[in-house]
Amino acid sequence: MTRYLILVLLFLGTQLSAQNNINHLTATIIGSGSPKYNTERSGPSVLITYKNTQILVDMGNGTQANLNKNNTKIKMLDGLLFTHHHLDHNEEFAPIFIQSLLGGNKIIIAGPKQTASIVDNILDIYEEDIAYRLSKSDRSLNDVLSNFKNKNLTENTPFYIGDIKVSYTLVNHTIETLAYRFDVGDESIVISGDLTYSESLPILAKNADYLIMDSGGAIAAGSKRNATNNKINKQSTKEKAHVNLTESSKMAKEANTKNLVLTHFTFATIDEEATTTQIRENYNNTVLYAQDLMVITCNDSIVENNKTQVDPKQLSEINTPNSVPNFANMLKRMDDNRDGKISKTEAKGKLKENFTNRDKNNDGYITEDELSKRNQ
Ligand SMILES: [Zn+2]
Repeated sequence: MTRYLILVLLFLGTQLSAQNNINHLTATIIGSGSPKYNTERSGPSVLITYKNTQILVDMGNGTQANLNKNNTKIKMLDGLLFTHHHLDHNEEFAPIFIQSLLGGNKIIIAGPKQTASIVDNILDIYEEDIAYRLSKSDRSLNDVLSNFKNKNLTENTPFYIGDIKVSYTLVNHTIETLAYRFDVGDESIVISGDLTYSESLPILAKNADYLIMDSGGAIAAGSKRNATNNKINKQSTKEKAHVNLTESSKMAKEANTKNLVLTHFTFATIDEEATTTQIRENYNNTVLYAQDLMVITCNDSIVENNKTQVDPKQLSEINTPNSVPNFANMLKRMDDNRDGKISKTEAKGKLKENFTNRDKNNDGYITEDELSKRNQ
């Protein structure tokens, strides 16, 4: 009976936390990887949501598979945005766009200068295929052409998708690249795109809740730390495509963002301690490391109730009388080896601090069962 009650409470907790996210501007990291194929990290993609509005920014390799894991329906998307047209950021656009056309939803497609011609070319190349698929539901291409708006973002003019205000600015990369800012009320999330140091980014990201940033210079677990410094030096003599940690942390400091979220990793496991140490030379607020399907939610009211700087992600793990921690979310963030439980080395934040208390059977792992018994 107790076990049944715990399961009901856990279910309600998950539902409440999902419900809570809906009412706050939220980013779900769909892919945290890079062009290099990695089974643990899909290509770059972030889903921005607020209430019923869903915007997908970039569509790298594995985006559709992870949208599916996230229970996100392509026909429910309201916006498809590109930071830039490097292949690792747009390679799943064609299938996502065509599914959206068949789904019949209204959608805004926008990005840097090549965006409109990419859409036109896809329509051209797949015209017969799209017409055939639409004919199954007695529709023609003309019936669905008005379902999408397609624009090159050239004027720095903010626009709205649903209730979400979208602003953008050019940043420095090897091709035309945009950073985006999403605002609802006083909640804000910024995505940097790929970039080198750009004066425009801290202006766009001023006081944002989250700055999701190119992870250039991040240190891989097990790598020799000095080797990384040499690499940075070597890199600066060539044409640079990505920031190093000094540049990303300086931009985050100048922007005064509450949270810096590093993404676009070329390797699976990060030496978070060494990387954070370098970032701390410039930036003192919360540093998070993106993983596929990690959810980050703006919830200022909670942060302000706590005098100290608290990572809102960790707040769901702090004991409060009416909150049930969401074990599934914790697993997504912490369970690096995907064995369904959290070891002491994997644990983060409050869970790490209280690890010994939570680990009821002292086996060195926290399981869902032990987490739900934490107050007993
Ligand atoms: Zn790029």
